[in-house]
Formats: sequence, structure tokens, C-alpha cells
Amino acid sequence: MTDTHMTDNRNIRSILIVGGGTAGWMTAATFARILGPDYAKITLVESDEIGIIGVGEATIPQMATFNRMLGLDEDQFVRETKGSFKLGIQFVNWGRIGHRYFHPFGRYGLDMKGVSFHAYYLRLRQLGEAPDVDAWSLQAMAARDDKFMRGIDAGNSPLSDIAYAYHFDAGLYAEYLRGWATRRGVRRIEGRIVDVARNPESGLVESVALQSGAAITGDLFIDCSGFRSLLLGQSMGVAWHDWSAWLPCDRAMAVPCASVAGITPFTRSTAQAGGWTWRIPLQHRIGNGYVFSSSFCSEEQAHETVLGAIDGAPLADPRLLRFQAGRRARGWEGNVVAIGLSSGFLEPLESTSIFLIQAAVTDLANLMPAPGGGPPDPRLAAEFNRLFAIHYDRTRDFLVLHYTANARHGEPLWDHVRNMALPDSLAHKIALFRSSGRAPDYKLGLFSRDSWLAVLMGQGILPQAHDRLADRAPLDEVAERLADLRERIATNAAALPAHAEFIHGYCSAPRGSADDKAVVA
Ligand code: FAD
Repeated sequence: MTDTHMTDNRNIRSILIVGGGTAGWMTAATFARILGPDYAKITLVESDEIGIIGVGEATIPQMATFNRMLGLDEDQFVRETKGSFKLGIQFVNWGRIGHRYFHPFGRYGLDMKGVSFHAYYLRLRQLGEAPDVDAWSLQAMAARDDKFMRGIDAGNSPLSDIAYAYHFDAGLYAEYLRGWATRRGVRRIEGRIVDVARNPESGLVESVALQSGAAITGDLFIDCSGFRSLLLGQSMGVAWHDWSAWLPCDRAMAVPCASVAGITPFTRSTAQAGGWTWRIPLQHRIGNGYVFSSSFCSEEQAHETVLGAIDGAPLADPRLLRFQAGRRARGWEGNVVAIGLSSGFLEPLESTSIFLIQAAVTDLANLMPAPGGGPPDPRLAAEFNRLFAIHYDRTRDFLVLHYTANARHGEPLWDHVRNMALPDSLAHKIALFRSSGRAPDYKLGLFSRDSWLAVLMGQGILPQAHDRLADRAPLDEVAERLADLRERIATNAAALPAHAEFIHGYCSAPRGSADDKAVVA
């Protein structure tokens, strides 16, 4: 290891990544790919004894961008992680019991004459002349019939632009990235960190001590130690922003079960009395879990609910996980940058944690100063922290939206979240939509405008007015264009292959491991 210490940003020579979960190995792989061996020596310490959380199994479409950046072959990735494809999330019983809606990836319809599709849609809907908005999403229509295909080059056909993400086995993904990164020069050290040494004057971290007695020094430390937040939280003492007032779920009970015939190309989220259950279909099993609030549901009730919600035989005993919603005040402090669960946690309702890792590691790689160049610039950390806050805070607002707009009257958790005071930023977004049909449209951070629309309308929030720009086209023309588009989407969706058939054709995982109770049916 190097003896140099990073007293400023000019001489980064040694980067130490603490932790080898999804965050640690995504960071190591990105650095190996983007920074290259001449930039810095990259070392990762992980402890098999402690292990990883291993439950992140559903993603959003940005994951494909990440894999492409690494140059991973998609079929090989899906095969190796026993994964499947995901076109969106089905929400069951969220608005009210018996109701369901779909949050599809990608866009609804097509904009016309410079005016957003949703403005026209809302105009027709207010006149009672438009069915559910799903009819204008190829993803939603394909998911309805368990169909899937990657986009093809087909001009302005809806088939040219199919947005999708993956479900995968998180343990296998970390293993896969570990192999990828170590083959490209990342050094891996196995050991349990028992102490963190900081310079008494500068406050910067100088080294970590292993149980074996060895000390590992570094210039820049990436804290990927999971919920423990060994460096940023425990050692640097960066404050925690607690968001449990808005997101009261603080436990999860996870249990895999045997597959059933067919593989749904979507995640299902079903609202329950004390939270919600997830269902994530992989090739060899289904991942399930119950995210619940300990103030509204006991562990015994959660155990019973999750086992009652699964489709196949359980493959393990339900496993309890504890957490709190929130984030660190800053993700970068001194020479420590936290990525992954060490930086914050938002429940997996929209599968955002892995994206938050990806966003942080990409921002960090973009803000990393060139070795030996320029004066120390604290604005790098300030810029990282600005982006860090945007990603987390906008994601938080989006999740809280699912809870607050519910009509599950008489159920303590749901009454509580319906009546709680909202973050100002979310209250503004809801008011904006209610009054004028305009939805948030951000260039940065999650989620896109159409994702907001899916959940706003899905949870039963409808605007009192539509964007008046939609009145510029004659009503007949609008109705005709939308009907035509809807027809084309329905025809194309119907022609897609079954999701299971697609996997079988391109990326079927070999059978064999002990928990492989069923593969693609
Ligand atoms: P971990 O996996 O906990 O890894 C921490 C690493 O640090 C391990 O290697 C550990 O050995 C090491 N370590 C810790 N302490 C020490 C020490 N003292 N010495 C040495 N090494 C140490 N995300 C999604 O995107 N989609 C989902 O569907 C999703 N579902 C989730 C469901 C639940 C119930 C939970 C709790 C999380 C979910 N997540 C999901 C989040 C996702 O699991 C995490 O974001 C992801 O796994 C990254 O975790 P991590 O690498 O930060 O931490």
C-alpha cells in the first residue's frame, strides 16, 4: 500500500473500497473501467464472515446503461445472474383494496406538435373519452400478457423503443462483478475491519486496521460497508437525516420460493395492512418479502403475511432485516465517499437502491480530479453532495407519493400516511398536478415525468384541468391520433413472444444448483 496521504485532491494514488456487496463491486468495476490502472491502485476489502445484504433483486432501466458502460454482454449477464426482464411494476391494492395499476418503464404515447402526449390524454380523459393510460404504453400492454422482447430497429414503430430493466440474483451479480473487476487489476483483500485511523489534525482517514493486525492505508476511501457505515457514519460522524416520519416502514421479512410456470416480466408490489409485499421472478426462484412498519405490524404477523403471499414452496426460512429510511447529510466528507447502504436507505418500492449506487459512482468518477493536477478544490465534494442530495430527495418524494394518496380508510398505517405532513417539495408536485395537469419533469434524478404520471394517476390523483396547449388541436384530430396510436401499440404488444420463451431463446441459465426448483417454463 502507498504511504502517501491525501491532504488535498492533487495526488490520488491509492483508492481503498471498504465492502464487497453490490455497492463495493459496482464501484470497483466502474473505477477499473473508467479510471484505469495508471490513475490509481484500487483495493477492495471485504469480509466473508460478515457477508452481504444480498436482497437487491429488481432494478430500473439505467442498469442497462451501467452494464453497457462496463461492456458486459447482456445475455451473459442475465444467464449468470439467473435473471429475467422487467417492464415495470404492478401495484396491487395500493390506492384501495381491489384496485391495481401499472408503472411501466418508458414513455406514454407520442408528443404531437410540440405538446406532451399526457396533455392530450388528460383532455380526452376529462371528457370521459379515454380508457386507462396503460393502453398507450407498449411496456404495460406487453406486461399484461407476460410478453417481452428487446427493441428492434423499426423506424417509428413502438417496437423501436422498448424500455426495460432486470430482475437478478444480487449475490450472483456481486460475484460476477468481483470476477470482472479483479481480472482488470482490482486487488481484493479478505478481512474484517476492526478500527479506522484518522489524522488528528486534518481529520482525514489514514488507514483501516484488520482483525489480523494488518493496516491498510489509502488516499481516498470509498465506504461501501452497508448499513454499518463504518467510515462515513461511525468514524467521520456525518449526521443522519431520518425520514421515518414519511416512510415509516423499518423492517423486511424476505423469503425465496420455488418458481411457478411462466415468468412475469414485472415486479409486483402488493399493499398489506402493515406495509407491502414484493414478488420478483427470477429464472430459478421467486424473490419475495414483506416491507413493514414495526409500529403497525408485529414480526409474527409479517411472518404469516409473507408466507401467505408466496406462489411456490418456500426455499428458506423467512429472514428479518432492520433499517431506517433516510440518508447521510453528505455523501462525501474529507477523503471518504459513501456509496450504497452506507450513504442512506430508501425502501425498495421502486427498486432504486442500485440506481443510487450507479448514480453516486458515476458522479464520483466524473468528479475525480486528475492525479497531480490543479489546486485542492473543495467544490468537487460540494458538487458531489449537491447531486447526492438531489438523487435521494427526489426518490424519497416519489416513494412517499405512493403512500400518501391512498383510500384505505380505517387501516392504521394507511390512515397515518394519508394524513401525515408531506415534504414541501412533494406537496408542491401534487398541487401542481391537481391544479393544472402538469407533472414534474426533471433532467436529473429519478423519476421521469411519465413515471410520476403513472403513480399520480394510479393512486387516484386526477387534475382539475389539463394543459391548455392541448386545446390547440381540434378534438376530433386528437381523438383520432390517440386511437390510432393505441391500436398500433395493442397490435405490436400482441405480436411479442412470451417472456419465458424469450429467455429460453437467448439467456437461459443452466440448471443445477441446489435451489433450482424450476427454470423457465
Ligand atoms: P452490503 O451488501 O451490506 O455490503 C456491505 C459489505 O461491507 C459486505 O461485503 C461486508 O462484508 C462489508 N463489511 C461490512 N463491515 C465490514 C467490516 N467491519 N470489515 C470488512 N468488511 C465489512 N435495491 C434495489 O436496487 N432493488 C431491490 O429490489 C432491492 N431490494 C431490497 C430489499 C431489502 C429488504 C433491502 C434491505 C434492500 C434492498 N435493496 C434493493 C437495496 C440493495 O440490497 C442494496 O442497495 C445493495 O445490496 C447494496 O448493498 P451494499 O453493497 O451497500 O451493502
